[in-house]
Amino acid sequence: MTEPILTIVVPCYNEEKVMKETIGQLSVVLAKLIREELIHARSKLLFVDDGSKDATWNLIGEVSKINPFLTGIKLARNVGHQRALLAGILSAREYSDCVISIDADLQDDIAVIRDFILKYQEGYDIVYGVRSKRDTDTFFKRTSAVWFYRFLHKAGVNIVHNHADYRLLSKRALDELSLYEERNVFLRGIIPLLGFRSTFVTYERKARFAGESKYPLKKMLSFAFDGITSFSITPIRWITIIGMCVFLLSLVCGVYALGQRFLGFTTPGWTSIVISIWLLGGIQLMSIGLIGEYIGKMYVEVKQRPRYTIETDLYSRQIQTQEWSV
Ligand code: UDP
Ligand code: MG
Repeated sequence: MTEPILTIVVPCYNEEKVMKETIGQLSVVLAKLIREELIHARSKLLFVDDGSKDATWNLIGEVSKINPFLTGIKLARNVGHQRALLAGILSAREYSDCVISIDADLQDDIAVIRDFILKYQEGYDIVYGVRSKRDTDTFFKRTSAVWFYRFLHKAGVNIVHNHADYRLLSKRALDELSLYEERNVFLRGIIPLLGFRSTFVTYERKARFAGESKYPLKKMLSFAFDGITSFSITPIRWITIIGMCVFLLSLVCGVYALGQRFLGFTTPGWTSIVISIWLLGGIQLMSIGLIGEYIGKMYVEVKQRPRYTIETDLYSRQIQTQEWSV
């Protein structure tokens, strides 16, 4: 069997502080795997610049002149981690046998890349990197993640716990992924839907070695919300069930109130009226909001806008001119 061509896809947004280190370390890994004849010498590092405002793209351009592994794609504007990642892996699909996605900050242990390849050689199409510990994350991030996974699980979304977007996908899995045309991209939810033989390898997640997280609370919440509402209509069903329970409860209350009335007791009434108005008002607003959320999603989907726009594509250019071939 000839060795597979591997492309490591790295989305980056304002990552100038970590670029050189990341490129250096990943290049060493690639060179080592090539020497071990585990991967093909044409394997590549594909950095996707997600509309960075700093020197990220310049660095990619410069280093790619001296580092034959390195290539890049520049997106026309910032489209977010998930879409940037998608841009990278779908671009890599044509020229690679398998693709590994990893963040630019080297929080994920790159020693595991070798295990990914070994699993791929065993015939797995999808290999998930799963964190064994999360001590390097803040307490808030850890607890919110636990609740997020629990909620998704309850809502019937099949998702691998403690797995971020560090994974290997075979060409077959990538071809299948390219058929998913949704605009609200949530790869952690889509990948398990692809099917195929999959497995996981565990690793310890480290702290970001430079720069800040590009996922502030606002982005994290919107990511969690997208994850839930893009993959499940269970919340809508819950609202319906809550609505039905409240309706039944109000029937009981009605009978009680009528009984009081006919037995001649005078009830002050005020408290119950105010409480029910607030309760029902709250539930109704919540339901309308949630329905709005789904309608909003449909609105975004039906527009069928491009999910990303590539401004400069060093990758295809290099491949076409074969200047990197060995
Ligand atoms: N990222 C991106 N576009 C964005 C935000 C982030 O491409 O709009 C990249 C970022 O450069 C990094 C990865 O996505 O490589 C994950 O981001 P980060 O490390 O900030 O997230 P965290 O590890 O804190 O969840
Ligand atoms: Mg990170």
